Amino acid sequence: MSSEYVFPPPPVPSLAVRGTEGRFPVHRIYCVGRNYAAHAIEMGHDPDREPPFFFQKNADTLLAAGHDFPYPDMSHDVHYELELVVALESGGKNIPEADALGCVFGYAVGLDMTRRDLQGEAKKLGRPWDVGKAFDWSAPCSDIVPAQSIGHPDAGAVWLKVNDELRQSGDLNQMIWKVPEIIAYLSGLFTLAPGDLIFSGTPSGVGPTVRGDRLHGGVDSVGEIELRVV
Ligand code: MN
Repeated sequence: MSSEYVFPPPPVPSLAVRGTEGRFPVHRIYCVGRNYAAHAIEMGHDPDREPPFFFQKNADTLLAAGHDFPYPDMSHDVHYELELVVALESGGKNIPEADALGCVFGYAVGLDMTRRDLQGEAKKLGRPWDVGKAFDWSAPCSDIVPAQSIGHPDAGAVWLKVNDELRQSGDLNQMIWKVPEIIAYLSGLFTLAPGDLIFSGTPSGVGPTVRGDRLHGGVDSVGEIELRVV
């Protein structure tokens, strides 16, 4: 079998790791839906503790720190969702909750950018969410901070400002499904692997953004993300 590709393979998407020159190679991006009660309510849902649900973005939709967010085509209602991102260094299937944090390399701050109009149409028609969620550059993400240096945060402010005005404000301790539970549950559905990222859900306060906006958000003890919508 030839080892030659018929054209050069695409580069491996990756994120910088704070405090090192090594980069974190990204395998898959999983996202948790409705993981804060106040956000579930603002989206018109009951915040009862239903099983978590997931969707995915492609690894090459990542937008690394330092880049502007290009407002996507085909939408007039692009929303921000500021989220804690969990970065895995190991994986597997059916990972027990007690072992789940052992799979975590570190954490980052991400934006689950969403074409809300296209997502809404998909919901109404019972279609997949991909066009609303997995468009080009829909996953801006900060550098990763290793768990070795910050531990595993389970409380702390989650916030987002638009043009210096506070729009999203929550706390990691409001997550309906905690990080170990998310990893355990997700590993029953998919084989998790080193390089997987999990966007863990957004607090309330999501809303539309327009070209020219400056989005600035953070998760206490993890980091911040700042970008301009262009
Ligand atoms: Mn989200």
